[in-house]
This record gives sequence, C-alpha cells and structure tokens, in this order.
Amino acid sequence: MKASQYLLPTTKDDPQDAVVASHKLMIRSGLVRKSHSGLYSYLPMGLRILKKIESIIRQEMNHAGALEFELPILTPSEFWQTSGRWDKMGKEMFRLKDRHDNESCLGPTHEESFCHLMKPMLKSYKDLPINVYQMHTKFRDEIRPRYGVIRSREFTMKDAYSFHLNDESLDETYQLMRRTYRSIFGRMGLATIPVQADSGNMGGSDSEEFMVVSPIGEETLMICPSCGYNGNIEKTALVLKPDSLAAKPSSDGTRVETPNAKSIQDVASLLSVDPSHTIKAVAMMGDGQGVLVFLPGDRELNEAKLKNASGFNELHAMGQKDLEKYNLIAGYIGPHTSFHPGLKVYLDSSISANQEYVVGANEFEYHKKGFIFGEIIHAKDSQYESFDLVLARKGDACPNCGTGLSEEKGIEVGHIFKLGQKYTKAFEMKVLDKNGKTQDPTMGCYGIGVNRCMATIIEQCNDDKGIFWPISVAPFEVCIVNITKKEEDTAKVEGIYQSLKQAGIDVFWDDRDLGPGFKFKDSELIGFPIRLTLGKDFVEKNEINILIRKSGQEIKHTFTNFENLKKQIADITQELYSDLGASNV
Ligand code: ATP
Ligand code: MG
Repeated sequence: MKASQYLLPTTKDDPQDAVVASHKLMIRSGLVRKSHSGLYSYLPMGLRILKKIESIIRQEMNHAGALEFELPILTPSEFWQTSGRWDKMGKEMFRLKDRHDNESCLGPTHEESFCHLMKPMLKSYKDLPINVYQMHTKFRDEIRPRYGVIRSREFTMKDAYSFHLNDESLDETYQLMRRTYRSIFGRMGLATIPVQADSGNMGGSDSEEFMVVSPIGEETLMICPSCGYNGNIEKTALVLKPDSLAAKPSSDGTRVETPNAKSIQDVASLLSVDPSHTIKAVAMMGDGQGVLVFLPGDRELNEAKLKNASGFNELHAMGQKDLEKYNLIAGYIGPHTSFHPGLKVYLDSSISANQEYVVGANEFEYHKKGFIFGEIIHAKDSQYESFDLVLARKGDACPNCGTGLSEEKGIEVGHIFKLGQKYTKAFEMKVLDKNGKTQDPTMGCYGIGVNRCMATIIEQCNDDKGIFWPISVAPFEVCIVNITKKEEDTAKVEGIYQSLKQAGIDVFWDDRDLGPGFKFKDSELIGFPIRLTLGKDFVEKNEINILIRKSGQEIKHTFTNFENLKKQIADITQELYSDLGASNV
C-alpha cells in the first residue's frame, strides 16, 4: 500500500476529551475518529489492526473447536423476558419499539439469543458438548462511556457459549477456553492475568476475568505474592481472625454529644478512637427496599458482595425521603433494638462481638461509646444478618494462604464464566442422555472485547513518539520511508517496494511528497514495527537503514539483491514474533 493512495489523517495535538494514552494516540495516528459519545468510526489503518486482532481470536477459537455464527444484533424482548433479564439489565440496554409496538433491544450480550437458536438443534447427548461463538457488534448504554474505545457504547465482542451434559464436560471446555485465551492474548502481545471474578447478574459459579495490569484500569486486582492467588477486589473474600463467640455480654454503651461530627474520621478524632473501633452505617435502597449495612469504620462496602448476599440487583444510596421513611438520621445511624420493620439490616462479619465500638446513637449529634454487640450478633432471632460485605484492601490476608495481598489496577479484556443451567432451564432446553432421560444442559460463556484489546495494546505499547505495535497486530509490518528526490532513485525504491509486496511482506510505503521529518514522525506515531529508510546512503552506497520501532535498534543493510533484503526482514520479523510469547506471563 502506498501512502499517496491512502488516508493518513495524523495530528500533532491531543484531542481535548482524551485523558489516556490509547485514546489520544488512536485519534492522533488516524486510526479512529469520534462520531459521538461512546461511538467511534474506524479509518482504514485502524480497521486493519482491528481485523488482525479478530483474526487471531478467530483462529484460536476455531483451533479450540468452536463454531462461528452470526446472530441478529436486534433481540426481541421475549428472549429477555424468558430469562428474566428484561427488567434486571436496567438502563444499560438500548431498548426500542418497532412499528407494531413490539419491544426489542440492541443486544448487549447474547446468552438468550444463542439459547433460542440452539434449543431445537441440541436434542441428545450426541449433540454435546458444543461451543458456539460470534464476532459481532454489541451495544451498551454505559453510564460513563470513556477512555475512547475502552468503554464505548457500540463495540465488537467475541462472545462464545458452550453447552454440556454435565459439569465435568463444562469444566473441560472452560479450561480449554482459559488456555485459548492465554494464547489469544499472548499472540496479540498482551500480558494478561486471569483473576477470580464475581459473576454479577449472569448467574453461575466459576468466573475469571483476563486483566491487563495498567494504572488506568477500572478494576482493582488483589494479588498474592506468595501462592499465586489473583482475584478481583469485588470477589476477594476477607479472611477473619477468629472471634471468640460473644465472650462479653451486649452493652448499649454511653451516649456522647458529637456536634458536627458526621464522618467516621470526625467522630474517631473527636472521641480519640481508632476508626476501626467505630461502626459505619451505609443506608441504601435495594430494588426499592431499604437496606442498612454496618461495617467497621475503616472499611468500605463491597456492593457486589452485598448484592450476592441480599439478592438485590440494583443498589443506590438512600435519599432524604427514604431516610425519613425508615426513621434514619444521616451521620448518626447506629444499632437499634427496633428498626423499621421494612428495613433489611446487615452486619459485616468482621465486626467483633466483643469489641467496644463507637456507634451512631440514632439521634442528631449524638453517638455512643463502649457499645458491644455481644450475644445479639449470634442470637437466633437477631435482626442482623451477618455476611462478608467489605472490600478487600492491600495487606489483607490472602484467602488461600494468609499472606498479605498486594493491589494493582487492571483493564478487563476478557471474561470466562460457568453459567450453569440458568439459561437452559429458562429456555427449557432439554437433551436426552445415554439412558434416554431428559436433562437440562449446563452452559459456559466466554467474552473478549475486540476494540478494548486494541486500545489496551496501545496502553502497553507506547512511548513519547507514539505507538509501537506488536508485529502480529500492526497495521503493516514494514514501512518504507524514502527520502529520494530524483526520479530514477524513486524508481529503485518502487522496485524494492514491489518485490517486498510480491514476496507477501505486509508493507506500507510512505511515498508522499513530504519532508523526511514529517514522514519519520508519522511512521513512529502510527508505530510500524519495522521501518526501512531509503535516503542519501541508499542513493550513494546502496545502504538501507532498518529501524526496529520497539527497541530503537538500527541495522545497516547493504542492498545487494532482493533475496538478501527479504531474508533480513524475515529474520527480524521472526524475532519480533518470538518476542510475543514472552509477554504472556
Ligand atoms: P466492564 O466491567 O468493563 O463493564 P463487563 O463485565 O460488563 O465489563 P462482559 O459483559 O464480561 O464485560 O463483556 C465481555 C468483554 O467485553 C469485556 O471483558 C470487555 O473486554 C468488553 N466490554 C464490555 N463492555 C465494554 C464496553 N462498554 N466497551 C468496550 N468493550 C467492552
Ligand atoms: Mg459492563
């Protein structure tokens, strides 16, 4: 491909709304253009990258025996009613009505559609296991589309769904997908860590997210330096020091005035206690019902754990009206002997039965000192339900081995789930086993965000000059920059370009009539892995300067014949490919 016949709308300045490197560089290097909030158009150079990423995913999925499909993006509401997710999915679904007033949505994911499609085709154990997938557009009305294509409202996902007669078979495919994901990400030069994840409203049991460690990551990963445990912070269980069962009797403590002390920090410093010896109350609404959670004052609520424990789908902080309805006084909420009967009250299980705490007195500007939960924590008729409800933090004990956990930020590029029978039961998928008995098949699902992978690669592969693409996903493997003026010299460059092209080398020639500085900058910004410079040295001494973008290494190649040049490029290419394996940690 010649630049003179291509489109290279590169820019010097960062777009105003971009805060992360990948977003800035994708726009600056002319890979994508913003269409509207969370919507991006791919330009030819960007599309080549996206297609290379898709091709790696497709090859590996096919190699793992998965079958590619393509389903409609528009999904009828009946499918979602069947699974019960029409209401559960909330505002993230783009919903619309057709001219007959039938409701549909632009699919954010396709469990329902695949169940509907596969049901009549999967009749017996002979049809299982089967793993089906597509590489297709998804729509999600994200609250905050941001970071360019990392969180957009329209994106391409590879989504796969597997169907099995039993859990062993599901586990086999799940493990195969786990290995396949490692190969996929490795081949595109992404270093990923599989971390244990919360299953959210998908249902199911085992679930792992493939994370790329990055300071811009929206996920927090808890990593054990000792046993290899990796977990999403949402999932990581808090291991408790044993608390002797209510050795002390309950005590209501003494009432103290705490004017203007609403926050834990204010109260702790006013009463000279450690925040961990105070009790924090978090008042929320869960699917329209009042929820009150008590936590140690130095801890944060983990909403995913609360959702799992309570079964609520949607949680948000209580407003003033709700607080009044449930007789709660913001800033001074504490344990009570008779909460509003409609209020669900939860106690984090790390709260000690024996510790003296500072708690809210349920009275404006008053707290209580020396409050002990004592036997009421464990009483059979206790109004409190006790669960692990806090967010893990750095230094907490690893749930596997007890070592202090460390913390990293990560970008989720893929996710694998064991879904179980939630969807197959809802869709009444029945298969006959070997004994002729009907069974509900069990399911797995496996997603990869294609565009997010592209941006995440840039997050990992950029420097002050621009992007350095891993060779496997580079828009072109080789870029020729010529700085020749005379026609006969340019004709020689054309000869080299043509011969490389004929040899099947993925080559781009910046033949534009522009100054060398401009061309060099563009090639470094866009990030072609190998650059051949044909300038004065080429004209005078037949010398080609080969630059390896990633390492900055320069090689002087004396051009004698095409075969030698091709061999040199093939050697470099091979080395760059062999580097990729190493990135798969
Ligand atoms: P997130 O927590 O980041 O919103 P998710 O848990 O909703 O992700 P899944 O439903 O598991 O994501 O979707 C599978 C993959 O699709 C994700 O691992 C991610 O790579 C990609 N993905 C999800 N949402 C978006 C989005 N809004 N824009 C781009 N890619 C996305
Ligand atoms: Mg999401």
